[in-house]
Amino acid sequence: MFLAGKKSTILKSETSKNITCPECNTQKSTKVSILGFYKHLFHVPFISGGKSGISECNKCKHKYNLKDMPVAIKLAYFELKETTKTPIWFFTGLIVIKSLVLIKIFSKYI
Ligand SMILES: [Zn+2]
Repeated sequence: MFLAGKKSTILKSETSKNITCPECNTQKSTKVSILGFYKHLFHVPFISGGKSGISECNKCKHKYNLKDMPVAIKLAYFELKETTKTPIWFFTGLIVIKSLVLIKIFSKYI
């Protein structure tokens, strides 16, 4: 059992109209997804570990990782990433600890 580690989840997906799949030449078939990574401790998300991206063609199922995406897909990825916020639950563990510390500090004065 892993107590700490890194996980990823899809934050946002969009099928871009401007992309033609380089493999099968189909237009509007490439889905670009923003992946959010987070580090977890005891399966509680703790801290954001950045974002990455993948794309998949609905027709030929060809996938690209961010580093080998053709330029057009990469541009669509960056555009989508601009509008994707890191979800607050990525920081659940951090927020809990901060709250506990604050409670401890305040309890001295009560
Ligand atoms: Zn394709």
